[in-house]
Amino acid sequence: AMSKYIFVTGGVVSSLGKGISSASVGRLLEERGISVTIQKFDPYINVDAGTMNPYQHGEVFVTYDGAETDLDLGHYERFIDKELTRQNNITTGRIYSTVIAKERRGDFLGATVQVIPHITNQIKEEILALAKSSGADVLIAEIGGTVGDIESLPFLEAIRQFKNEVGPENVMYIHVTLLPFIKAANELKSKPTQHSVKELRSIGIQPDMIILRSSRRITKEVKGKVALFSNLGEDRIVEAVDAKTIYEVPLIFEKQHVADKIMRHLGLKEKKKPDLKKWREIVNKVLHPKREVEIALVGKYVNLRDAYMSVHEALIHAGIANDARVVVKWIDAEDLERGDIELHELFRGIKGILVPGGFGSRGIEGKIRAVRYARENKIPYFGLCLGLHCAVIEFARNVLGLKGAHSTEFDEKTPYPVIHLLPSQLAVKEKGGTMRLGNYRCILDRNSKVYRAYKREEIDERHRHRYEFNNEFKELFSESGMVPVGINPDTGLVEVFEYKAHPWFISTQFHPEFNSRPTRPHPLFKDFIKAALSI
Ligand code: GLN
Repeated sequence: AMSKYIFVTGGVVSSLGKGISSASVGRLLEERGISVTIQKFDPYINVDAGTMNPYQHGEVFVTYDGAETDLDLGHYERFIDKELTRQNNITTGRIYSTVIAKERRGDFLGATVQVIPHITNQIKEEILALAKSSGADVLIAEIGGTVGDIESLPFLEAIRQFKNEVGPENVMYIHVTLLPFIKAANELKSKPTQHSVKELRSIGIQPDMIILRSSRRITKEVKGKVALFSNLGEDRIVEAVDAKTIYEVPLIFEKQHVADKIMRHLGLKEKKKPDLKKWREIVNKVLHPKREVEIALVGKYVNLRDAYMSVHEALIHAGIANDARVVVKWIDAEDLERGDIELHELFRGIKGILVPGGFGSRGIEGKIRAVRYARENKIPYFGLCLGLHCAVIEFARNVLGLKGAHSTEFDEKTPYPVIHLLPSQLAVKEKGGTMRLGNYRCILDRNSKVYRAYKREEIDERHRHRYEFNNEFKELFSESGMVPVGINPDTGLVEVFEYKAHPWFISTQFHPEFNSRPTRPHPLFKDFIKAALSI
């Protein structure tokens, strides 16, 4: 079967929620029995997001096949409930490195290699390759950045050409823009959208639908105006007023028959009646929960919430499962390093402490203090990756009495290297894409909370790390109650620790947050929130 293509571009400003819009359209098509895949094009020159600081970029999302990707892939997976691959996130850096490798190989022998056609051809090839490998009825491709950026031009040129190549009946362009509200005039302004559409047209792309983001209701008059200058019927102008939760967006679109209009445009037939009952329930649970629970997230990028996107969403999902609003208290780990801070004050009312993944020594001692507080005060503790390392270091120092115990990531000369470099990492020199990445198997101890949460013995979770628990200390930890309850059967690496003398103290070497969905909250997050609610 031939695939259909939807290209999503953005105008006026970034951070418009193009990712959520693409994901929502995907959900609504899936609801109609149309299979979907979503691809993100990022115009930066990094080959992948893995080498970028979270302050630049937000979270690095990891796919099961070990790609370090843009956080929008997380939204896609959560909304369409499908596991995506490295083919779903393509950057300018990746396109260029592929083209340059081909040039070195001699594939273009004789030719001058240029942006058009070589780079644009490579972009189109990536789209077609994913359409083929995914077998999806519809491929949605989101172009990162904003129309008018120099970096996104080759992508826009490629998607312009694409329509002629696969036939106009198979392609739809959706443009997402902002209507800024001007206080003094008490008005939503359509002029920036007008300019953005004009810019898109000058590249040769006529949008087929416009999604208008705004902070308040859009009048019929403004909609009409946008329709007029965009050469579109008013029914192709979609209103996307700020939602109370991102999970509401599919419902907001459905009310405006967005998916039906897209299906008509692309000549697609519904294979089943959409049933959004489950989504309505999810939104209802997020907005009107029975109770509330406050969780402290102790990290070093807490000023930028995007840095912990999947962890935050997984907590929200766990809240849905427990009919509770999870309120996250964002705590800067460095604040915990100040001598004057009163921990009882800081953690007052907190029912659970979570230390997420991270890199580098800034804030480490603060995180270790947070772990100690959770352990000693019997507050549920959930450690993810670096959060496991911190739990191990804390236990070594304060329970086992191993003075100066540390991870060699932070202290190469520690007398007790309880966390050390993976053997496979010793020879690694390059930073990009060289961590232990993606899915690895883990066998759970039947006599553990973790097993009871998963209700399964064998699990597969996603990883992103270079350091691991040093198995030389395994017995010592085990005997003292910090028990490795999850082991990688192929390598013997410890994947999960559970501290038995505590109501809920679990840490994982993997990142469970990447596998949580609003429709299928992750068992460990669910259990963590359940424990938090019961103390
Ligand atoms: N910095 C640690 C490592 O590389 C932990 C990584 C993480 O938390 N994702 O092993």
